[in-house]
Amino acid sequence: MKLYLVPTPIGNLDDITLRAINVLKSADVILAEDTRTSGILLKHLGISKPLQSYHIFNEHQAVQKLVQRLSKGETLALVSDAGTPAISDPGFLLVRECLKHGITVECLPGPTAFVPALVNSGLPSDRFTFEGFLPHKKGRQTRLIELQTETRTMIFYESPHRLLKTLGQFAEYFGPDRQAAVARELTKIYEETVRGTLTELIAYYTAKGVKGEIVVVVAGKG
Ligand code: SAM
Repeated sequence: MKLYLVPTPIGNLDDITLRAINVLKSADVILAEDTRTSGILLKHLGISKPLQSYHIFNEHQAVQKLVQRLSKGETLALVSDAGTPAISDPGFLLVRECLKHGITVECLPGPTAFVPALVNSGLPSDRFTFEGFLPHKKGRQTRLIELQTETRTMIFYESPHRLLKTLGQFAEYFGPDRQAAVARELTKIYEETVRGTLTELIAYYTAKGVKGEIVVVVAGKG
């Protein structure tokens, strides 16, 4: 009767811990955001286990049934497509419901994109705020206004096609000279971190184009 949250690689398949492998091997069922994506990883690790889909679109309905199964003694392991479940990924609802029902929850330490992005940025890492994805429309401006007074380093997840729009808004709300870093394709072949002012980053990515997975780290208000 236990729910494990198991972090999986964010690019480099070697970034899986020995304990993650053991937990995946010992679980009764592996809950996966995308059974095809996780199926490929499990095959690579030589693990053959029943996979069940658990994603943002069935999260609300699935939670009660999963809690019942856990209460009956099953051990479930939740994985997302990449990184740590419940970090800008499904998981929080299940964790909350398990705890409400006295079910033990254990999140293994492991890959997540925001930690290497923060550390590589060279911006203060003693205090920071993880903002995940900014709202696309409703609430976006309110969030940006709120963050204008933030003094801690700010971390954002972003998609490549929105990067320039977002950097432009950061320059508008936080000032064009604010220091920032864009971490792209962490742990993959074309991994790169570009550091500079927001103006410099906009110029760089306007000239170069934007591809791949991205974390933006922005200095807090000085
Ligand atoms: N659960 C994941 C984690 O622990 O980091 C995050 C999942 S979220 C749906 C996907 C976003 O994470 C991407 O859009 C990107 O912002 C960031 N991300 C994931 N892998 C990345 C990588 N290899 N390099 C840079 N950013 C990455």
